Amino acid sequence: MAIYPKLIIDALRNVRYPGTGTDIVEMGMVSDDIHIDGMKVNLSLLFEKPNDPFIKSVVKACETAILTFADPNIEIKGNIEVKTKQVAAPKPEKLLPQVKNIIAISSGKGGVGKSTISVNLAVALAKKGYKVGLLDADIFGPSVPKMMKEEEARPLLEPIDGKELIVPIERYGVKMLSIGFFVKKEEAIVWRGAMAGNALKQLIGEANWGDLDYFLIDFPPGTSDIHLTLVQTLAITGAVVVSTPQEVALADARKGVNMFTNEKVNVPILGLVENMSWFTPAELPENKYYIFGKDGAKALAEELNVPLLGQIPIVQSIREGGDAGEPVALKEDSVTGIAFGRLADNFVASVDRRNDGQAPTQKVDVKIK
Ligand code: ADP
Repeated sequence: MAIYPKLIIDALRNVRYPGTGTDIVEMGMVSDDIHIDGMKVNLSLLFEKPNDPFIKSVVKACETAILTFADPNIEIKGNIEVKTKQVAAPKPEKLLPQVKNIIAISSGKGGVGKSTISVNLAVALAKKGYKVGLLDADIFGPSVPKMMKEEEARPLLEPIDGKELIVPIERYGVKMLSIGFFVKKEEAIVWRGAMAGNALKQLIGEANWGDLDYFLIDFPPGTSDIHLTLVQTLAITGAVVVSTPQEVALADARKGVNMFTNEKVNVPILGLVENMSWFTPAELPENKYYIFGKDGAKALAEELNVPLLGQIPIVQSIREGGDAGEPVALKEDSVTGIAFGRLADNFVASVDRRNDGQAPTQKVDVKIK
């Protein structure tokens, strides 16, 4: 007698899964790919869990059912393979549903002032009345706590809807968390790869950020696994790339831009910020010295067709403000405060254009005195 799949399936309808009492065909436990070669039959059974306690007894019952109800000469012993059902992973919850815009602040290389720009942009936005969060994700040198005078801060946990959430530290109207709050400086460097990625995911997903207009993330410099983890975990609105006008910095900034615009990542560039554009000594206010070259990031922005959001000069007070934990953006009427205020305006305009579905490429006026 010829053996055909329906015969086997009908035989298997006599096997009940002990866990539910329903027959295994109805439960979808018999895989479609029944293989028949003469009297030899191969088939696979699908179980939800690899350690299902009934695997052995179900396999045995299948062998018996096939020999009893189909044909006693079928070679089935040892030919039933056990597989685990591919259950679709539950869709991850959208992280930060109360946050309107998640912004990556990035640079090709370290030391170009990425954290200085992040902190001052955050403060300038808060001064304008926006709700702002700042996450220091720079595991290689978390400097936000110092720049915001919160080096000693140790965030607390609070129970919210049955979950323990980290409470961000609030300073100058900005809610912030830093990887630096949780690791000693000397340990930060070993926190690479998955460990750092997981720690950051926790700071994002298990913290009580609340409603925010802008959530700025101070990324580590360069391109790494951590960047990928962050861009894959979060629906990032856009990226801001910081560079000095210097050739070597620009080459790296270009790489940074490419990382975001690459089709797998596909995060739009909201604009470039040129930092350390020139130096003006206090005693010669009309003189500008282009220490790192002139307009390098401006030219790169034009070439890449992205806005230049601002040119920030080298000013002693910017460095001092960083070291003292009092960002210059707090003094809205100072020359540097005005510069960061305009940077914030250009940034908001670029985000708005992006959210209106326009390419953020319109020219913006970036001149500052
Ligand atoms: P990054 O985050 O890119 O590593 P930082 O923001 O930590 O860079 O800046 C490096 C150093 O340069 C800091 O001491 C900072 O105070 C200083 N700095 C950054 N931007 C300026 C600027 N425009 N004028 C003066 N000092 C600056």
